[in-house]
Amino acid sequence: MFELSERLKKLPPYLFAEIDEMKRRKEREGVKVIDFGVGDPDIPTPKHIVEAMQKAVEKPENHRYPSYEGMISFRQAVAEFYKRRKGVELDPEKEVISLIGSKEGIAHLPLGFVNDGDYVIVPDPGYPVYFASTLLADGIPYKVPLKKENGFLPDFESIPDEVARKAKIMFLNYPNNPTTAVAEKEFIKSAVDFCKDHGIILAHDFAYGEITFDGYRAKSFLEVDDAFEVSIEFNSLSKTYNMTGWRIGFAVGNEEILKGLLKVKTNVDSGVFQAVQEAAIAALTGSDECIEQNCRIYQERRDVLIRGLREIGLNFEKPKATFYVWCEVPEGYTSIEFTKKLLNEAGILVTPGVGFGEHGEGFVRFALTRDVKIIEEAIERLKNINI
Ligand SMILES: *Cc1c(COP(=O)(O)O)cnc(C)c1O
Repeated sequence: MFELSERLKKLPPYLFAEIDEMKRRKEREGVKVIDFGVGDPDIPTPKHIVEAMQKAVEKPENHRYPSYEGMISFRQAVAEFYKRRKGVELDPEKEVISLIGSKEGIAHLPLGFVNDGDYVIVPDPGYPVYFASTLLADGIPYKVPLKKENGFLPDFESIPDEVARKAKIMFLNYPNNPTTAVAEKEFIKSAVDFCKDHGIILAHDFAYGEITFDGYRAKSFLEVDDAFEVSIEFNSLSKTYNMTGWRIGFAVGNEEILKGLLKVKTNVDSGVFQAVQEAAIAALTGSDECIEQNCRIYQERRDVLIRGLREIGLNFEKPKATFYVWCEVPEGYTSIEFTKKLLNEAGILVTPGVGFGEHGEGFVRFALTRDVKIIEEAIERLKNINI
């Protein structure tokens, strides 16, 4: 009786829902599934952040509507964090806004800048929200492939002139989910120049900016010259402080772009619960030891997993960042076939690369969101099947 909008009908089914169903079926058969599928940290939020929340939630002034753009104290904390971690100066009044998680900001940005028929350049494979939010704004996603031979960086030369001219936004994401690739200054500068030349908003998703290994530090796009002219950078406390359930993130960068996004937001949401903002201030201005601790945990898990995968004969690049391993599918399988094989024969759940776009075919993603003991058990199981 109630027909979905054409807009909604264009959206592909959310792959993760199907995978969840596959997992449940297996569990009903009595299999103890080891789930490397979802990118949701299993490690709790650090104690000092939880305690700040407990205090903040008691205060009646925090029970009222928050401001749309976020408390000035929160925006100052973001500026302090960017200065400390990335050496980037931000004006907390004009160059920072709060978000209800970075997904919310990413999903709303196209509504602010895209007209019917405009292009949005999205990476393939990539976080599905770039594609979906483009369609919800009646834009046309132009998929730019991330290929192994290019270090999973897009080739801007390959984008047709006609697309570049009609593109309003380009989404990029480094450290990258799902490929784990990182971007260096030279590449970032070329992205900024490409967007400047064509009047495109460079929307950088920096969700994994603090999940790095072996002493590597991820670059903010705002570190390069001219970036403020064209860039908005999405960031979040979700992965940095294990706060996915809290729903708090922020956007920083070009004032005019932030204003456009904020105008969308003032019409659809009412900001972030102030108690959550106060907890976020405790996180952003507190000791960085919890970030380092987090990275040590993921690095140990990475090392156990990649040692095991290597022994089995699987190929991948050793990740410098993110909590994933982007693993090549052995000859003779599609990514979905290989995912089903791992689930059916070993009770191990991974995400098929094709779920992130057609150029994700040939890969599966392992999330390092299980502890070392479980990873070791998974490796044992994998050694007992014929790959
Ligand atoms: C996890 C993730 C996000 C979103 O996180 P929020 O919890 O909404 O802040 C954004 N982009 C990528 C690539 C992610 O993996």
